[in-house]
Amino acid sequence: MASVRLESICKTFDGVAAVDDVSLEIHDHDFMVLLGPSGCGKSTLLRVISGLEEPTSGDVFIGDVLVTDVEPKQRDVAMVFQSYALYPHKTVQANIEFPLKVRGIATKDRAARAAEAAESLGLTEYLHRKPAQLSGGQRQRVALARAIVRQPAVFCMDEPLSNLDAKLRGETRAELVALHQRLASTFVYVTHDQVEAMTMATRMAVMSRGRLEQVGTPAEVYARPGSVFVAQFIGMPPMNIFPAGAVEASDVLVGVRPEHIAVDDAAPLRATVSHVEQLGHETLVHCRVGGVNAVVRLDSDAPVPAAHSEVGLVLSNRHHFDPVTTKRIDTAGDR
Ligand code: ATP
Repeated sequence: MASVRLESICKTFDGVAAVDDVSLEIHDHDFMVLLGPSGCGKSTLLRVISGLEEPTSGDVFIGDVLVTDVEPKQRDVAMVFQSYALYPHKTVQANIEFPLKVRGIATKDRAARAAEAAESLGLTEYLHRKPAQLSGGQRQRVALARAIVRQPAVFCMDEPLSNLDAKLRGETRAELVALHQRLASTFVYVTHDQVEAMTMATRMAVMSRGRLEQVGTPAEVYARPGSVFVAQFIGMPPMNIFPAGAVEASDVLVGVRPEHIAVDDAAPLRATVSHVEQLGHETLVHCRVGGVNAVVRLDSDAPVPAAHSEVGLVLSNRHHFDPVTTKRIDTAGDR
């Protein structure tokens, strides 16, 4: 349906850069997740795409069309927010139909499109209820249905799942992925939750302090993080980062994911166990090694070292980062 191209987007508020020179290609039919901590500028960037915010400089293209100065309602973009913003006095059906009514679509066509959108989101039996008679998850689905009926080229979603409980979030993640496949349209989705990004994105753009840190598929970003920031933002517990010289004789930072450290009593790299967390499906061993804290992830059936004991550690899949720029050193690769 449509690609989105951002060229050197800057957005400043009162002289402070919320988005700082971001260029990004969102491909047709991408499920692009803009991921980063609170305040990194991801919502501002999404609002620039949808036209709710005008960039201080830079350009936005949807398809091949320059839309930087085009009004939001002319952009063929639908927004879905964290707050559902449904009309409380209207029925579910009237809420879903509303964007079509505004556009002057005939009553019969409106009803047919609303019925189709409701059916695709499992809302058919609730069409005559008011929003107050629905659960949070059902209300969020109504907000999605209201976006779908417009058949926009691009869906922009800002943390749409954050009001849902953990179980419903999990279910709705799966529904959104299925919806994306069914609609064959382009999704741009903002979240600070790396699990949402890892599970839903076809590609993700990781942001920090208004800047783009890395763009790639979830697997690429996890396997080859481009900076210490990305390495520690993606993955839970985060990647261990050892200062130069702590675990190997080199002058670079060494990163190792908790699952890439094994306990082997004969190993020359010695560590002292601080404490152990047995989580059922895995065990996290917190230890001191080379003068820093590190976390080791063990399978739940692995022998558990005792707190305060000395163990040997074997590191694999090492990542190397420049101690000054904190960027990945590519030539080192994984070892
Ligand atoms: P969150 O996850 O908390 O919503 P975010 O990554 O989406 O964060 P933005 O909402 O884009 O971040 O905000 C980026 C920065 O711009 C923040 O420092 C914020 O305070 C600032 N900002 C955003 N909107 C405005 C505004 N209308 N006026 C002034 N500053 C703003």
